[in-house]
Amino acid sequence: MNPNVHMLDRRPPRAETSRPSRTEVEAAVRTIIRWTGEDPDRDGLVETPARVTHSFEEFFSGYSQDPVAILEKTFEEIEGYDEMSVLRDIRIESHCEHHMAPIIGRAWVAYIPDGRVVGISKLARVVDVYAKRLQIQEKMTAQIANTINDVLKPQGVGVIIKATHHCMTTRGVHKPGTDLVTSRMLGCFRDSALTRQEFLGIAV
Ligand SMILES: [Zn+2]
Repeated sequence: MNPNVHMLDRRPPRAETSRPSRTEVEAAVRTIIRWTGEDPDRDGLVETPARVTHSFEEFFSGYSQDPVAILEKTFEEIEGYDEMSVLRDIRIESHCEHHMAPIIGRAWVAYIPDGRVVGISKLARVVDVYAKRLQIQEKMTAQIANTINDVLKPQGVGVIIKATHHCMTTRGVHKPGTDLVTSRMLGCFRDSALTRQEFLGIAV
């Protein structure tokens, strides 16, 4: 399969009318608290459903943002610059879609422009848009690379993510110290071993 063929995932489809209200979400959190054996009415817990809902709003804020719009403003006065740009060590805070447990790690995002570049903070914001959703790391890595490739149309894109999954460090098989490394290489990063090596040398 051609690795460049994919559906660009801007925003997952969601009917706003079917979205639960904040009150419903708080009630669901209250149910979970009761289920643990706790009393949701005791002083320390009475505000917890509202706080958890507020936290979730932040954890999953990526659903309300459009990564394509973030990348659409580009700069073309680049004096023919056609070498690699690498944004290193971007903090990743995400949640796995299987357990809703934290995924904490770092991303390295590189591209070789073809006539235009994007503000570097925009690369970090695209990482965040996809991280602030329910994720699996492989999909998140591909989404970031695909979006940069589709919108910026560079000569190539490389994305590496290295992250710890709390669903396997603090629960389940309990293997602290493990991390998962994923990568997605497109264009010249996929076709040229030298370009890929240069990126890996800078990144890791
Ligand atoms: Zn998980």
